[in-house]
Amino acid sequence: MPQTPEHRRAEIVGNLAAVRSRIADACEAAGRDPRSVTLIAVTKTFPSADAATLAELGVLDIGENRDQEARAKVAELAETSRVAASIRWHMIGRVQTNKARSVVSYAHAVHSVDRAKLARALSEAAVGHGRTDPLDVFVQVSLDADPERGGVLRADVGPLCGLVDALPLLRLRGVMAVAPLDTDPGAAFAELAAIAREVRERHPEADRISAGMTGDLEAAIRHGSTHVRVGSALLGRRSPVFG
Ligand SMILES: *Cc1c(COP(=O)(O)O)cnc(C)c1O
Repeated sequence: MPQTPEHRRAEIVGNLAAVRSRIADACEAAGRDPRSVTLIAVTKTFPSADAATLAELGVLDIGENRDQEARAKVAELAETSRVAASIRWHMIGRVQTNKARSVVSYAHAVHSVDRAKLARALSEAAVGHGRTDPLDVFVQVSLDADPERGGVLRADVGPLCGLVDALPLLRLRGVMAVAPLDTDPGAAFAELAAIAREVRERHPEADRISAGMTGDLEAAIRHGSTHVRVGSALLGRRSPVFG
């Protein structure tokens, strides 16, 4: 039987409480203030109504990994939700340079900047779009050197951060990573924390770390994550076809 909107809302309310308490417990264990961690709800593959529900429940940071899907949801919510204007959209997936114009039209932040060409395209698009507020940028770091999974190699993080910092209408905020598969996420996030420290020495305002998902948010918070990107713990399992 299809779920009613009331059931779905109740399910999300319960899931959100559980995720918030995981974040609180992880912060307590790490001696951190829970307010130092921002929850980004990843709504990819789920309908825009779920993003609206999350926003009504106070989760105003919403993550998507594909431009086409994100753009459609932004347009839908503008028509259907009274909280649409309060949502900050975070692009967390690989961005093709030919999508830069679209992305800068709705995104608050891009977490997956991993090459100079993309940084330049986003900056040019932001200028062309007439944005007044800069686009927040996280440089995505590859912790397993697997080009399929995105991210810049550690040796290239410094130069890419320097470029982002210099480009108009981009605001370098910090680094992002996805823990490699089949390894200890703690070790991966410890490496990310070391990279983040190096970046901060040059760019003191770039003090954010986007790390931690449903399976590894505790390890990420232990290693200083300020932005966790959580999908399935909030909304349920995604169809594997759509990732
Ligand atoms: C899908 C996705 C997430 C959320 O993953 P869950 O395991 O469902 O919490 C986080 N970050 C990125 C980059 C993603 O693509």
